[in-house]
Amino acid sequence: MNKNCLVIGAGMAGLTAARTLQQNGWQTTVLDKGRGLGGRLATRRIEAGKADHGAQYFTVRTPEFEKLVATMQQVGVVKPWDLRTSQHPLFVGVEGMNAVAKFLANGLDVRTNERVVSIAQNDTDCTATTETGNRFTASHVIITAPAPQVISLLKDSGIALPEQQVNDLQSIVYAPCLAVMVVLNQPSQIPVPGSLKFDNGPVAWVADNQQKGISPQLPTLTIHASPAFSRAHLESNLDQTGAQLIEALREWIPADTVVSYQVHRWRYSLAERTQPDPFLVAQTPFSLLIGGDGFGMGNVEGAFLSGWNMAQHLLQYP
Ligand SMILES: Cc1cc2nc3c(=O)[nH]c(=O)nc-3n(C[C@H](O)[C@H](O)[C@H](O)COP(=O)(O)OP(=O)(O)OC[C@H]3O[C@@H](n4cnc5c(N)ncnc54)[C@H](O)[C@@H]3O)c2cc1C
Repeated sequence: MNKNCLVIGAGMAGLTAARTLQQNGWQTTVLDKGRGLGGRLATRRIEAGKADHGAQYFTVRTPEFEKLVATMQQVGVVKPWDLRTSQHPLFVGVEGMNAVAKFLANGLDVRTNERVVSIAQNDTDCTATTETGNRFTASHVIITAPAPQVISLLKDSGIALPEQQVNDLQSIVYAPCLAVMVVLNQPSQIPVPGSLKFDNGPVAWVADNQQKGISPQLPTLTIHASPAFSRAHLESNLDQTGAQLIEALREWIPADTVVSYQVHRWRYSLAERTQPDPFLVAQTPFSLLIGGDGFGMGNVEGAFLSGWNMAQHLLQYP
């Protein structure tokens, strides 16, 4: 069996799978439709500052992940963030959450701006064709896109899974999230250590990226709308929705402190309902594994475990 694998998605799950396979002598190519890598490990430059607008932090609960996080901490990629809201240790990227993805991608063959539009089986291999017309061939394929995107890709490729596997993919549900990144002209009034969580109302979370340490020169905030608000306003005018969310936090964000803001629409943010197993072995004539954060814990650590377990599965091949 040839030891090469195409990995679709350069987020936590895909990069972990590719890195683990490559460390064990496999040849891997990672394809991502995004301009940059990292998926929902996302950090944006905004004016002279920065803001994490996807995942805000990650938990460490399992020994496999603990090992990776210890390595990343040693080389200065991540640091603890003591929010005192979790019984598990929480970590953030020292330069932003996207730095975690960049660390994992080091030494990997990652092709960005490559949206896979179809997968087809050849004699012994399979080929992924991207929107740019490029074709990539390997013996094994791993897909780590959110489940609804996997379902579309398989349909567009004419690949029919057994009913049970289709049901399993369809049962995975993600909350959307509207994320607002705000630039302030003075340090924010968010209390130390730099975040607030809300159980009711339009806002679910606000974080101060300056206190978090990723935007030392310029105070910036990240606001995440609640799932209910995000669902109701997903297609609304983004500027107006951003203003509404900032207004909802007026107590902490005085009007005359806002310099500018940007809004990002996440159609898939945190998984609300996941599959318990870390990945799915697709019943296809070629070797196809489907994983990502829709399998397991439904967060950064869950995505890591999914990627790691998919790699372990393939490493069993002689
Ligand atoms: C707003 C928000 C807040 C969050 N907060 C937290 C948090 O605080 N803590 C936490 O642990 N988790 C949080 N999460 C969830 C966390 O970010 C995810 O669980 C994790 O990053 C998912 O990793 P993944 O690799 O499974 O998926 P992704 O990061 O989504 O990676 C999948 C990749 O596949 C690519 N892709 C999709 N389709 C194709 C295609 N056809 N061709 C090529 N590429 C394709 C995408 O571009 C993407 O880069 C949050 C997410 C969001 C959006």
